[in-house]
Amino acid sequence: MSAIHEIDWEDIKELRKQEWYQPWVAIALMKEILKKEGETMIEEFGRAPLPTEFGDWTYIVYGDKTTGQHHEMLVFGNISEGSLKDGEDILVRMHSSCRTNETYHAINCECRKELHEAMSLIQKEERGIIIYLEQEGRGTGIAGKIAQLNGMFGWDHGKIEQKRDPITGDRIDTDRAYKEAGYPSESRDFSIAGEMLRSIGVYSVRLLTNNPLKIAGIENAGIRVTPVEIHISPDNEIIASDLKSKAQNLGHRISELQWKYDQGA
Ligand SMILES: [Zn+2]
Repeated sequence: MSAIHEIDWEDIKELRKQEWYQPWVAIALMKEILKKEGETMIEEFGRAPLPTEFGDWTYIVYGDKTTGQHHEMLVFGNISEGSLKDGEDILVRMHSSCRTNETYHAINCECRKELHEAMSLIQKEERGIIIYLEQEGRGTGIAGKIAQLNGMFGWDHGKIEQKRDPITGDRIDTDRAYKEAGYPSESRDFSIAGEMLRSIGVYSVRLLTNNPLKIAGIENAGIRVTPVEIHISPDNEIIASDLKSKAQNLGHRISELQWKYDQGA
């Protein structure tokens, strides 16, 4: 018998009017409830072999009980012996979805390039994990990303130009565009990635990242982390100014040499 008959729809309509029923409030509340009950935030939906341009992987899909979204994991090689092999921790990249760059090849960020670089590094090591989190727009969702894009770009004589600070002439970067639109420039919860790792018996990793928040987030979820920097050369001035901003405003480990865009290179 379906439980749907037992729902009082009038009650639900009342609940929706209340402030705490806003989705983000409901998500935070659900996290608290799960924590109190000692339950995980994720549930594995299934796994399958996935042949790719970067070799053969095991593709695992999880449901997120707090948001209703899906998160994914790609596992390369044999991890049944746990995190360590010959004294070396397993290489892991924690990646957030970026539809504009990964699907539409937008040129204002380096997400696709970083993902492919990580897959290729893991393929070379013959062992590793990609965690792909459904966290668009640094966790603000597609609505946040639209606001960020509007803050960064505008049309000028039929062409898209990056907006600039009227006084300094500096390019408006991703970080500033989020803040000016009233969004946090970083609102992702990385603890869910820790749960995904624990679900397959991995408790200690070498994490491919320059982002100190990712390291802290996954450590708080009980995973031991050795950070490994990942660097790609910027393809244009938009990405170069964004890498500079990540280093200066968000504490990413990116040196001046790495954010320089060299047209001749
Ligand atoms: Zn991106």
